[in-house]
Order: sequence, then C-alpha cells, then structure tokens
Amino acid sequence: MEHISTFAQQAKSLISNANNIIILAHKNPDGDAIGSGLGMYHHIKTMGKEAIFILPDQLPKNLLWMPGCDKILVHKSPEKEQAEQAITKADLIIMCDFNNLSRLGGAAQLVEQSTAKKILIDHHLEPSVVCDIKYSRPEASSTCEMVYQVVSTMRGTPTIDSTIATCLYTGIVTDTGGFSYSSSNRLTFDVAANLIESGIDKDYILDNLNYHFSEQRLRLLGYCLNNKLTVIPEYHTAYIWLTQKELRKFNYQMGDTEGIVNYPLTIDGIEFSAIFTEKEKITKCSFRSRGSFPASKVAGDHFNGGGHLNAAGGESPLSISETIKKFVSILPQYEQYIEK
Ligand code: 5GP
Ligand code: MN
Repeated sequence: MEHISTFAQQAKSLISNANNIIILAHKNPDGDAIGSGLGMYHHIKTMGKEAIFILPDQLPKNLLWMPGCDKILVHKSPEKEQAEQAITKADLIIMCDFNNLSRLGGAAQLVEQSTAKKILIDHHLEPSVVCDIKYSRPEASSTCEMVYQVVSTMRGTPTIDSTIATCLYTGIVTDTGGFSYSSSNRLTFDVAANLIESGIDKDYILDNLNYHFSEQRLRLLGYCLNNKLTVIPEYHTAYIWLTQKELRKFNYQMGDTEGIVNYPLTIDGIEFSAIFTEKEKITKCSFRSRGSFPASKVAGDHFNGGGHLNAAGGESPLSISETIKKFVSILPQYEQYIEK
C-alpha cells in the first residue's frame, strides 16, 4: 500500500504546480464517484487553484443537490466539446473511483493520449490505469474514505471544510449501504466521526438521499420484486431483469434501478444476485454477492467488467434473453465459492 503521507505530499506538489487541472470519475456515476470527485474539486479550490470536474454521463437525480454538482461538465451531453477541450488542455488529471479507463466511456481515448500528469485515487481491485502516482486501497469502504485521508493529511488536521465533508460523507454512506456492508470497518466509522465533527448536517444528507424519489421508482421496485425475480436455489442465486419497454412503462430516470440488485440477497440462502437491464446496444449487468462469492470474478470472466468482490458490474453485447441464458449456464463454474 502506498503510504498516505508520501502520496499526499506528492499530490499536493502536483496540484500546486499545475495550471489546468481536471478531475474525472466513472460513468453511471454513483455517490462515491461524485462525492470523491467533488471532494477533490472543493479541496483544490481551498488551495487557491481551479479545477474542472468531468463525468462521462449524466448524474442521477437524487444526487443533484450535492454542493458543486452544477459546475460538473458531462461528456455525453451538449457539453461534450467543452469537456474534450478541457481534457486536451489539462496538465494534471485526477482520477477518482475507477480502475480501468474503459469506465470513462467515450472520454477514455483522450485521457489515454494525454501527456498530463496523472493521479489515481481508487478502491477497486487491481487498478490498471497508467498514472504518475496512485493511492489504491481495495479494502477501503469507498473512494470518499480515501479522499478524506488525502485531504486531512494534506491539511494536517482531522476536521476539514464542511462542504468537502458533505461530499465525502455522501459517498461513504452510499457506497457502504448506510454502513451496512462488510466493507465498513473501524476506519470508516472513524472517518465518518471526523466528517461529522467537521460540521456536516448528516440528517440533511440522508434526507436528500432517501426521501425524494418518484412514485414510479418505488412501483418499479415493487414490480421487480413481485414479477421479475427468478430464484435458482441450487446455485444460491437470484436475478432480476428489465427490458427497455418495462423501463419506459415506469418512466425510468437515471438511477431508478440503483440498489434493486441488493434485495435478492436478503433471501435466506441466497449468496449471489444479479440485475440485467436492457440498454440501447448492450445489456447492462450488475452483480452483488455475500461472503467469499466473487461477483467481480463473474463480471470479469464473462461480462467485460469488474468491480469489488461483493459488488461488481459489466456489459454484454448479447440480447437480454441471451445474456440471461449465458448467466445461468456459467453458474456451475462458481459452485465452489458457495458457502452454505
Ligand atoms: P453497480 O452495480 O452499482 O453499477 O456497480 C457496482 C460496482 O461494479 C462498482 O464498484 C462499479 O465500479 C463496478 N462496475 C459496474 N459496472 C462496471 C463495468 O461495466 N465495468 C467495470 N470494470 N466495473 C463495473
Ligand atoms: Mn466506489
């Protein structure tokens, strides 16, 4: 593991010496991607420097309240040219919460070609992104937890600016399922305590995250659980699938299917869960597991993806029904990991 104080010192000097800084996080951005990117964005501002935060595609609606969201440039939008110019001009690129450039979608090639200095802060397994300095901790609950370490080390104090703290707390809460996954540990709670000490309003954050969804989103969840859940007891697996037609019927908005994949794991004996969502050209696959069942291995072996041991994702070029057939057919390969 890279030593945090060395990393923080090197990052500080790269930031101080840069003139055109951009921050990038992964496509289908979640609370951790947006929180870690915004945390760095606000931190850089407090250093008296400017930065541009670019996301590959649109933010989910329930995160638009986060401080600084209105300043984010979205690559897959009318802001594409502006975003590409910023990437081309950059002399420092800070990458948060992804381990592979493919997670940047259409912006990947520009970043790969860029001669800018590159910093990576990420908690996914085996980061393959080429960079000048990296802080990689796959055991960390979230990238936001790591950005907290970076920011507090750079400043030499455990309490930080409340705007930065608000962004980081949001990412920690969302990536740990409200501190419920096994990825949270003593350090996670310690960091959360320091963020609360920094003056955040944690109830305001939880209110924004949990209590402002559309009625259609909740009905979509009900429909998935009641009508679209398939359980395969012999492989301790369950999956849900959604077609474009179904998504349209429930007036799907970005982020509406987030978290549905966790529900099948609440069934006694289920250790592996998947949701398949039909997109325009591909089938999006999202996986969750319990214990030592390697969701990331399934995603990497068969669905052009990756992620964490217990939370991973990928894409399939096959139709949704063919993707599901493939998924069911590969399950016997993972029987050895089932604990029950
Ligand atoms: P989610 O299921 O919430 O979209 O993603 C869960 C985890 O899997 C996240 O850590 C995310 O970074 C990773 N992940 C999701 N989709 C992909 C993908 O297409 N490729 C890779 N490499 N990782 C993914
Ligand atoms: Mn994350």
